[in-house]
Amino acid sequence: MLTIEKHSLGPIGTNCYIVADSETKDCVVIDPSDNAKFIQARIAANNWNLQALWLTHAHWDHILAVPGLMAATPDLPLALHSGDKGLYDYGGGAKMMGVQIPDLPPINMWLDDVPTLTLGAHTFKVLFVPGHAQGHVAFYHAESNSLFGGDVLFQQSIGRTDLPGGSYEVLMNSIHTHFMPLPDETVVYSGHGENTTIGAERRMNPFLTM
Ligand SMILES: [Zn+2]
Ligand SMILES: [Zn+2]
Repeated sequence: MLTIEKHSLGPIGTNCYIVADSETKDCVVIDPSDNAKFIQARIAANNWNLQALWLTHAHWDHILAVPGLMAATPDLPLALHSGDKGLYDYGGGAKMMGVQIPDLPPINMWLDDVPTLTLGAHTFKVLFVPGHAQGHVAFYHAESNSLFGGDVLFQQSIGRTDLPGGSYEVLMNSIHTHFMPLPDETVVYSGHGENTTIGAERRMNPFLTM
């Protein structure tokens, strides 16, 4: 079984997901948004073993705990799509927002040609869904109907497209191509705010029902 811990962390409350295989005790952190010590404490409290950091995209608010977690285990796979390399090298745009961010360690796993990722006995599809950011990806676990969607789709909203590298047309195309074909019961674990489902958004999201 998959166990999912959700924590809203950092200055603008960005969702960090610690996802574990409850049998093997392996876990990954999807979007380590802040407070590395707290994330490490949660992992330790569950007796989990951290296997990788998976980044949906490189905006500063999703990566603030990357330096702290990588300092503790420098060989840990740190995964990002190269479409967001420029953004990552630019500190995720933190300076533009007046936010201090410590030096970021190099990405050591590029997701460009990685169709799936493994966590314990579980396989996640890597969906390339640009538009909010140029290298945005989502992680989909079909068996549990879980979609870690980052800043692509929110409860009755969508990711903003006014930041550098954003495009409304590209984002809508990503949503229609990769998210909308998923089953209604798919739970969307978003980068901000409450979880939703593909079915609820299909019916009620103003950007999809227009
Ligand atoms: Zn973002
Ligand atoms: Zn965000």
